[in-house]
Amino acid sequence: MRTIFLLLFFVATSTASEFIFKWENYKPVKMTRKLPDKSSEERKWEPIRYRVLYDDSVFDDIPVSQTKLLQKNFKRALKFFDVKVQREEEFSIYKSLNVNTSKYENMCDEQILSSKYDFFECAEGTEEKGCDDEGHETLKDVDYVWFVKVEDNNQRIAGAGACNYVPGTNYKPNVGMILFGKKFLMEKEERITREGEENLYNILRHEVSHALFFHGELWKAFPDGQNLYKKTTRSIVYPETLGSGMNETFYGIAFPKALEEARKYLDCPDLQYIEIENTGGQGTAGSHYDADFLPYETMRGDDPPFRIAYSRITLALMEDSGWYKVDYSYV
Ligand SMILES: [Zn+2]
Repeated sequence: MRTIFLLLFFVATSTASEFIFKWENYKPVKMTRKLPDKSSEERKWEPIRYRVLYDDSVFDDIPVSQTKLLQKNFKRALKFFDVKVQREEEFSIYKSLNVNTSKYENMCDEQILSSKYDFFECAEGTEEKGCDDEGHETLKDVDYVWFVKVEDNNQRIAGAGACNYVPGTNYKPNVGMILFGKKFLMEKEERITREGEENLYNILRHEVSHALFFHGELWKAFPDGQNLYKKTTRSIVYPETLGSGMNETFYGIAFPKALEEARKYLDCPDLQYIEIENTGGQGTAGSHYDADFLPYETMRGDDPPFRIAYSRITLALMEDSGWYKVDYSYV
């Protein structure tokens, strides 16, 4: 079994990776307004409100048929993530990252945090990019802003990441970016002619997940994330097991709701960790399910040539963040 999946892993033509973002490289903007009340226990859970901003490239750089496919399935993917969130009474997307002093390791930097997409509200007296008062219209009545762009990258199917967070929270993201490779969209259109739109829909759900909650950097910010997202070696996690490969890097998550679902799914009440991909490049390792461990899950690190599905385990992980309440009847 293991050999078969390993083979498929290499046969799959391309890997869906996502961007690396490192919060520690950003200096939070000094806030002059009162931060949200951290004791959020009593705040109501309400349906999330998304706003999608399409870059010109989505209309100018690909055929109309692909623009339509992309928009249709992105809308469908967001509908799947029709989760509930807790929000402040007077909510707007507050700019939480200081671009001028940050290292540009984040794909969002020049795109979203530039003055071109000037939808952030800024702290009083802030003079950084995107905080110009003139003609400034901040987005209100929205919980999460999506920025969608098409790129000329032939290496990557698609990529996504979170770009900004709600101040006063454990890095709860509120802006995300999704990039699509032009070549990839062409291939998808051909595949869709043969087998329908499920594959594209799945890839979109995969990418949306990365920017909402499914990423090693975000897991570190989950409650008790420093303990429940582990990078170690296999020999340390399973010392009782002998054999080759025991010195390999081991990534695992043990967030309570997701672990409970995985134990049920695998019929293994003693399971300690959901294994996370330990191979692949930056962005693949550490931020996907291990393809041997959950081969049929949408959040594996590649795009296999067989059907995969979104599971209760992943929805439960979404809840483990503390940021969302999900409807399990969707899977
Ligand atoms: Zn991915």
